[in-house]
Amino acid sequence: MTMNRTDESKYTPVQNLTGMPWEELEDWVAGELLERPFRARQLFSWIHHRGAESVNDMTDIPKALRERLSECAALTVLETIERADGDDGTQRFLLRLPDGLVAESVLIPDPPRLTACLSTQVGCKMKCAFCMTGQVGFRRNLTSHEITAQLYALRKASQERISNVVLMGMGEPLDNLDQVLPALLVISHDSGICIGQRKITISTIGLPNGIERLSRLGRQYGLALSLHSAVAKTREMLVPAAAATSLHQLRQSLVAWTDAIGRRVTLEYCLIAGVNDSEREADALADFAQGLPCKINLLLYNRVASLPWKRPDEPAVSAFMARLFPRCPAVTLRKSRGSDVQGACGQLGASVLSTTTKG
Ligand code: SF4
Repeated sequence: MTMNRTDESKYTPVQNLTGMPWEELEDWVAGELLERPFRARQLFSWIHHRGAESVNDMTDIPKALRERLSECAALTVLETIERADGDDGTQRFLLRLPDGLVAESVLIPDPPRLTACLSTQVGCKMKCAFCMTGQVGFRRNLTSHEITAQLYALRKASQERISNVVLMGMGEPLDNLDQVLPALLVISHDSGICIGQRKITISTIGLPNGIERLSRLGRQYGLALSLHSAVAKTREMLVPAAAATSLHQLRQSLVAWTDAIGRRVTLEYCLIAGVNDSEREADALADFAQGLPCKINLLLYNRVASLPWKRPDEPAVSAFMARLFPRCPAVTLRKSRGSDVQGACGQLGASVLSTTTKG
């Protein structure tokens, strides 16, 4: 739902405030509304901290100013059209976007943490071979307003404090950084929902330009690299869009990021039976990780009905981990969450097939 100005409005264009960072909001309030800075603070707090969905909710803003805001400003509020509750407490949401397309988001409770997994695009261009989203293709980038509004829809549904955000839903965040970065500025701001920078993780297949941009930015967001194989041929099959970047170049950009940010990168590795779970693959992963400030997250492939892959059995997983341990002590086997509601890693995206682009 988006608030619309009236036809008589003298303000053009309507300014969406939902994904607008603090400094921009201050400038807009001063330049467009000719109001003092405390009005920007009030607006920011209402939208991001107090969960206002309409200017009319902002009861301590004078009526005349609310009327002006109704004409010149909009908020993006996403309606939940479907919610699926998993046995482990994971909840998958389908959220209707203003143009009728759908964003998928997931809420993952792991007390004391409550993590929101957000989408950054509708569909994805990267075509990863094991991922449902990769199979359905790309529709469009999400705006900063829509990325931010997903989080607020999840907060409203859960009525609990969301502690962490991971950009691991539909889409490749580094392919949409111009919209992702303002959204992250908004959600990490102290006066809003206040998710600390270190509680936000950006997941990527490793687009070097995007990683370099994050390095230059210097903010403390975590970086999770979807590696899935450190053998070039296997990786190119699993992550075709990564073929343009050599593993050497990718590793260099990760080293530069860890140097610039002072954090370890997480290497995500989805184990698929007979594809990337051999001794050779484990050795290549250990080589890749050697000397790189990193931790390795292994996860087991989550079944996607239309794809042929299977997860390895327990002995194969144990053997893979045992092969890594002497050289890579920081290895964890991540619990799969939400697979019974198609909300686990690699399972999102079916909604893209059932919605059509309008306009
Ligand atoms: S794994 Fe991520 S980058 Fe790859 S196709 Fe799926 S959503 Fe896109």
